[in-house]
Amino acid sequence: MSDPSNSSNDQTLRSWITTPTNSDFPIQNIPFGICSSDGHPPRPCTRIGDSVIDLFALAKADLLNDLGIDTEVFGASTLNPLMRSGRSGIRQLRQRLMELFRSDNGFLKERTVTVQEAIHPVSQVTMHLPVDVGDYTDFYSSREHAVNVGTMFRGAENALMPNWLHLPVGYHGRASSIVVSGTDIQRPMGQMRPNPEEPPVFGPSKQLDIELETAFITFEGRPLGERIEADEAEEFIFGMVLFNDWSARDIQSWEYVPLGPFLGKNFGSSMSPWIVTMDALEPFRTAGPKQDPTPLPYLRTSGEHSFDIALEASLVPKNGEETVICRTNFKNLYWSMAQQLAHHTVNGCNVRAGDVMASGTISGSTPESFGSLLEITWRGSKPLTLKDGSERKFLEDGDTVVIRGHCERDGLRIGFGEVRGEILPAR
Ligand code: CA
Repeated sequence: MSDPSNSSNDQTLRSWITTPTNSDFPIQNIPFGICSSDGHPPRPCTRIGDSVIDLFALAKADLLNDLGIDTEVFGASTLNPLMRSGRSGIRQLRQRLMELFRSDNGFLKERTVTVQEAIHPVSQVTMHLPVDVGDYTDFYSSREHAVNVGTMFRGAENALMPNWLHLPVGYHGRASSIVVSGTDIQRPMGQMRPNPEEPPVFGPSKQLDIELETAFITFEGRPLGERIEADEAEEFIFGMVLFNDWSARDIQSWEYVPLGPFLGKNFGSSMSPWIVTMDALEPFRTAGPKQDPTPLPYLRTSGEHSFDIALEASLVPKNGEETVICRTNFKNLYWSMAQQLAHHTVNGCNVRAGDVMASGTISGSTPESFGSLLEITWRGSKPLTLKDGSERKFLEDGDTVVIRGHCERDGLRIGFGEVRGEILPAR
C-alpha cells in the first residue's frame, strides 16, 4: 500500500531539530497549522518535536519558491489559500520541509538568521483555528455509538434505524462556533423538558457532554452538480484533526424531533490546531469493520480505507487530577471517510476547501471505550468516579476535557497532539 515517494513511510528519517522520545511530531509528521507570536501575525506553520516552524520565514528566505505554490499563501492567516495547491502541492511542500530538516542536511541549519526567524518553541507561539471553515458536516458513523444511543432512547430492538447500515447518516452543523483547542466553552442556556409530565423549562443545560470525534478537512471538491467517487475521495482530503463536538443532551433530546440536532449541538465544537495530512497517516492504513449488507455501488471501495488511530479522552476537574475516561480507536468506525465524502456529494452537493466533516462519536464495544458521557454513565444512571473521588453524570463548570490521539507502528509514532476545552458557567 505504501507510496515509495512518500518519506512519511521512512521511519529511519531523523531531524536536526531535537525531537523528544514519543513525540507526536517527528519529522515524518509535518502537520500544518496557523500560529502567531509577539513578532508576527497569524500565518502557516509546521511542527517538529516541540519546535514550531514559520513557513513565511522559510518562504522569505527563498526556500519554498520553486514548488509551484504561490508564496503569498505563506503570509495568509488561514491555510485555505495554501490548500488550493491540492494534495500534490501539499505533498511537494512536505517533501521539501523533510529535506530541509533531515539530520544529514546541514544547508538550513547553518543559516542561523533564517533558523532564528523561523523556529520557535511551541510554548512561545499562539495556535489559531487552522482553516476558515466554510461548512461543517457531522456524521454518525460509529455503529457501537449508534446502537448505544438507539438502545437508550428507543430500546434494544429498534437501536439501529433502518437506514443506518445502508448510508453514512449525517447532518449539517454550524461552522461559526468551531473553535481551536484551548478556547473555553460556555455552558449553554436553552429549553428542555426534564419531566415529560410537565411543561418544558428554560435554564442552563444540566446534561452537558463531550463527543470524542475526529474530523477531516477537505480540499476544493468538484463543482456543484458533480460527485466525488468513493475510490478517489481521499485525494480530496487534506488531513485530519481531533474534534470534541460538545453536546447538551437535555436540549438535544427535547428539540431534535423531527429535523434533528440544533441548539444542543451548535454552541461550540473544539478542534485540535494541527492538521495531520493523509500522507503522514498512510503507514497506519488498515481495514475497517466488515460491512454487511454490502453497500450500494456508489459507496463501495477497493482496498483498505480506515486508519489505526488510538484515541483517548480525559476529564480534569478544576485544580484537580486528570482521569482518563475513554480509550477507543478510529478504526472502529463503520463508515470510512471515503464513503462519507462520496455519500455527501452523490447528489451533486459541492464541498469546498476548508470544509470540516466530523466522524460522529467514536465508541468501541466495551464501556471503557465509549466516546461520550451519555454512554459512559448510561444517561446518568451509572455515575463515573474520578481519581479525586468525585462523581460525574455529565460535565460540571470548571471541568476541562482533553482528547488525544496518535498512531504507532514499527517504531514510528504520528500524533495529533490534543484538543482541550474548559467549561465555563452559563451566562
Ligand atoms: Ca457529533
